[in-house]
Amino acid sequence: MIEISKIYRFMGRFIMLLLMAALTSSCHDSKSTPLKNVIIMIGDGMGPQQVGLLNTYAKYAPNSIYKAQGGITAIENAMTMGTIGYAYHEAANVLVTDSAASATQFAAGVRAGSEMIGCDQFGNATKTILELAQNLGKSTGLVSDTRMTHATPAAFAAHQSHRSKENAIALDMLNAEVDVMLSGGLRHWIPKEANDKNAVVHQYLKTRTGGNIKIKSKRKDSRDLLAEASNKQYAVALTLSELEHAKGDKILGLFSYSGMPDGIQETLSKNDPNRTVPTLKEMTMKALDVLSKNDKGFFLMIEGGQIDWAGHDNDAGTLLHEMLKFDDTIKYVLEWVKNRQDTLLIISADHETGGFGFSYSRRNLPQEKDLPGKLFEGEKFSPNFNFGSHDILDRLYNQKLSYANMLKQFDALPVHQQTPQSLQEIVNQHTQFPITLAEAATVLETEENEYYVAGHPSLGSKTFPKIHDFKEFYVYSSELRLDLLGRVVAKYQNTVWATGTHTNTPVPLIAIGPENVTAQFGRMMHTTEWAQYAIEALQ
Ligand code: MG
Ligand code: ZN
Repeated sequence: MIEISKIYRFMGRFIMLLLMAALTSSCHDSKSTPLKNVIIMIGDGMGPQQVGLLNTYAKYAPNSIYKAQGGITAIENAMTMGTIGYAYHEAANVLVTDSAASATQFAAGVRAGSEMIGCDQFGNATKTILELAQNLGKSTGLVSDTRMTHATPAAFAAHQSHRSKENAIALDMLNAEVDVMLSGGLRHWIPKEANDKNAVVHQYLKTRTGGNIKIKSKRKDSRDLLAEASNKQYAVALTLSELEHAKGDKILGLFSYSGMPDGIQETLSKNDPNRTVPTLKEMTMKALDVLSKNDKGFFLMIEGGQIDWAGHDNDAGTLLHEMLKFDDTIKYVLEWVKNRQDTLLIISADHETGGFGFSYSRRNLPQEKDLPGKLFEGEKFSPNFNFGSHDILDRLYNQKLSYANMLKQFDALPVHQQTPQSLQEIVNQHTQFPITLAEAATVLETEENEYYVAGHPSLGSKTFPKIHDFKEFYVYSSELRLDLLGRVVAKYQNTVWATGTHTNTPVPLIAIGPENVTAQFGRMMHTTEWAQYAIEALQ
């Protein structure tokens, strides 16, 4: 009996020891890897379909720019390095989200109402991860290729009832003293006096930007937020070279009137020595350089924001170049975080835009052909449908102008020259998917506006481009011709689009960093949940 009680006592002690060891080691784990930095990269409108377009291009385009890397994209590498989850993103009480509500949800970890910036669904200001980082003495940064005051960056540092209040958002962001703000949208930061071409401020800005940025203000007041930023010790940069030379730990960089160059413009001008606008990657490099000087760490959000815009426009070629732009930036950030144990990198999206896909069709069926395999002896290989050929990918890459800029070129013509012929010429000159005259004519067809309720703030023009089906989902009057063009070329590209707005398709969620932090991201969850993990990790 004595023997047995001894054994029990021994086992009891052994179990206690094991428990203590487990407890101390788990404490030790979380203490040994204090997280300094959180980086969130958002592909706006980057659902699985958009990742699919990039992946398909990288692997199968006959002249893929990823050839040297074996067709492997940075986002694929990120998935290999990290933990993969799947995020759904609906705003409060609705099925679909817009970018403002979605960004608010991942900036603060709470459900937001549609089109709201930095507040919960009831309209109360939320505490964002950026503000928490500031409280912890960390540096903070926001980088976007859209406008600094656009929904995604805004939701981290501004609190407004509607995303359209961009003048107020600019003030919020300046008052928040985000250390590094790099994007476009100068128009919300300069005084209304800048609209007078003879005004000193207009002349000054024109000279300083070398005439490369349209100088026009959207402000209704005389506040010069650039001067106010200087007074707050910001280095203000308006060109690539000013960004490169910017010193100090606070930078406000605004490099365009509204959105920054689109993906195609960036691809075509990347190696131009006279380029005056930084790329998304260059802004990211500068932000990381500056923010990482803080010993206490930093929070940084980087947005590939025009993936969404190409999706709204149903413009597959531009979409590809937006994905290339974002992937190039991911590649740099991956290099930066690689082998670090003090940084959490999250790559995700706010929603999917456009309901994009390659699709098979009954048009232009492939020629039947012989195959060497036994089963095809005396038989031809002759599929019933056109499953799409790889050369389409190169032709998408070779698009030279976004649909938006093609239509801009068209609209700049004298009215009597705005004909189907002119449109056909512009399209066929800049894409490798030539359209017919009849197709050009359908893009320019208009009809009486029957969808916009009189008095609604979004009331559009009286006549609308004529969308034949799903027209309720094509909501931006001025952009509808782009969508119609997207519809016209679809059959040549084996591409399809479901909508001119967003879908609720769940989006990829990638987390890279110390395993005890990233493990929790490996499942399906709402955006607000991963945001809370990021917030916890930072504290
Ligand atoms: Mg955005
Ligand atoms: Zn959108």
